[in-house]
Amino acid sequence: MSVLVVGTVGLDNVETPSAKREDLLGGSAVYFAYAASFYTRVELVSVVGTDFPDEHKSVLEKRNVDLAGLEVAQGKTFRWSGRYHGNMIDRDTLETQLNVFGSFEPKLPESYRHLEYVFLANGPPAVQRKVLDAMAKRPKMVVTDTMNLWIDTTRPELEDLLKDTDVLVLNDSEARMLTGKHELLAAGREILKMGPSTVIVKKGEHGAMVIHEDGPFLVPAFPLEEVVDPTGAGDCFAGGIMGYLAECEDASPSTLRRAVAHGSVVASFTCEGFSLEALTGIERKDVDERYEKLLEMVRIG
Ligand code: AMP
Repeated sequence: MSVLVVGTVGLDNVETPSAKREDLLGGSAVYFAYAASFYTRVELVSVVGTDFPDEHKSVLEKRNVDLAGLEVAQGKTFRWSGRYHGNMIDRDTLETQLNVFGSFEPKLPESYRHLEYVFLANGPPAVQRKVLDAMAKRPKMVVTDTMNLWIDTTRPELEDLLKDTDVLVLNDSEARMLTGKHELLAAGREILKMGPSTVIVKKGEHGAMVIHEDGPFLVPAFPLEEVVDPTGAGDCFAGGIMGYLAECEDASPSTLRRAVAHGSVVASFTCEGFSLEALTGIERKDVDERYEKLLEMVRIG
């Protein structure tokens, strides 16, 4: 089963305590699509400007990512710049330039309108909504990602979108911000009242807490000796989860547990290099090997 993703395709400038890199291939849809492509075909909907390098497109084309829905518009590509603190977890966004993404009117190729798995990657809720509205019928699974910027600036649109969302993925501080509740279990339960049947709260190096009506469960992050650049880890986490669910064509509680562990594993790979550099060097068998190691690490008794 293919997965449809809408989100940003962009150029990132990333600064860590030990390095500074510019014009990297980035964007929420890019990281998601690459991660999900280990499991399934991905149809990507986004927009870039005329300055977007062709070699970046070919990184995705070489994988199972269909770019028929990637529009090229007159103007500049979405740009994001961030600087990581010494702990390689906290970061400051130095600049976000929406550029052509600011006026993006998503146009879905006809075949995309019938897809069953839809990922609304981080981006303006108005754009996420337009994609949902363009679908021929309600998809089997709608997974939405969001961030503090949209909770802050476009809350009514976001709340409207949550009514049509099956799974919401967000980080711990965003869950607290959205609900005003500090305890993540309480925040998650509050979000369930807003529409989604499952909430996945990301806790960075501490893994993730999944809250749904069967109760919570926890999945650790795969421990790394060195983090080079964690940009995109959240999108890769979602890509691993949704790619696995689409591959299995099943969303039972046990499949969801395995899917979140896969998300955790794919996210760990992306932290080992800038942009997609680490992910482009691995294959599905590497993901599966690391998945087995993760299972071994959490085995008790
Ligand atoms: P993550 O580290 O998972 O939060 O993802 C970072 C990626 O998301 C970067 O490659 C950015 O280009 C992109 N990004 C950053 N801010 C936004 C935003 N406000 N909307 C959409 N994408 C964004």
